[in-house]
Amino acid sequence: DSNPPKDRTDEPSAPAKSAAGTELIRFDKVTKRFGGHTVLDSLDFTVSSGKHVTLIGPSGSGKTTILRLLMTLLTPDEGTIRVGGEYLTHEEKGGKLVPAGEKHTREIRKKIGMVFQQFNLFPNMKVLRNITEAPVHVLGMSKDAAEERARDLLELVGLTEHLDKYPTQLSGGQQQRVAIARALAMRPQVLLLDEVTSALDPELVAGVLDVLRDIAHTTDITMLCVTHEMNFARDISDDVLMFDAGRVIESGAPEKIFSEPEQERTREFLSAVL
Ligand code: ADP
Repeated sequence: DSNPPKDRTDEPSAPAKSAAGTELIRFDKVTKRFGGHTVLDSLDFTVSSGKHVTLIGPSGSGKTTILRLLMTLLTPDEGTIRVGGEYLTHEEKGGKLVPAGEKHTREIRKKIGMVFQQFNLFPNMKVLRNITEAPVHVLGMSKDAAEERARDLLELVGLTEHLDKYPTQLSGGQQQRVAIARALAMRPQVLLLDEVTSALDPELVAGVLDVLRDIAHTTDITMLCVTHEMNFARDISDDVLMFDAGRVIESGAPEKIFSEPEQERTREFLSAVL
């Protein structure tokens, strides 16, 4: 089935693929194995533009693998993934789908911003330059325009006064907020967040989650988060997907998943983490 997603929306008059509410991410029967171990098992799910979707579930259930597939750091063994209607691993050439070339992969990656557990800032660059580097060198933005945007983003993450420091002069929470600003500087269509607070000292977690709540509530960016912070997930999510052993065993609005889960496995998981 290779119908482009725009033919699948419920609103035939939807103006553009990236308009709010249209499909941005689509997994079709995605299977990923490591050795003999099936980590994702014929997984189907979609994320609409502008939505905040949270992946929860026990460790090892495949959540991070989904983000790594979206970043094209891994490729599926079976099935297809599309972002904005385009296949991650293939591109259209002369009406045919052929394996994606480097240029296609680079273009896809531009649509996707990711923040990792470990902040991975460039240690030899000051905060401002950490944020402007990719917009200037990958997007070809002028230095002035990139700096203006970086300053706006530093304000959004509450770090305006630190723009002239090196990463090691900041706390882990502040570094993670820079990493969030750096990801947003590329104007991605979707922001992937992989347990972004799990490497932080406990007293620094709230500051980072507050920034992300703010971004979720004040911008229209699509977010796909893996998190163990259930209160945060409840606050920001439009949809929660509960994973177990590489499958979505239950999904729905946070009120439903956290208050009236249908699956025993979800109840067990929540009572262990809440
Ligand atoms: P989660 O994010 O839900 O904790 P992951 O997606 O990180 O789960 O991992 C799912 C399973 O895949 C785990 O059993 C993990 O050990 C395995 N796994 C992940 N990445 C690799 C890899 N590169 N090689 C081998 N096994 C892996």
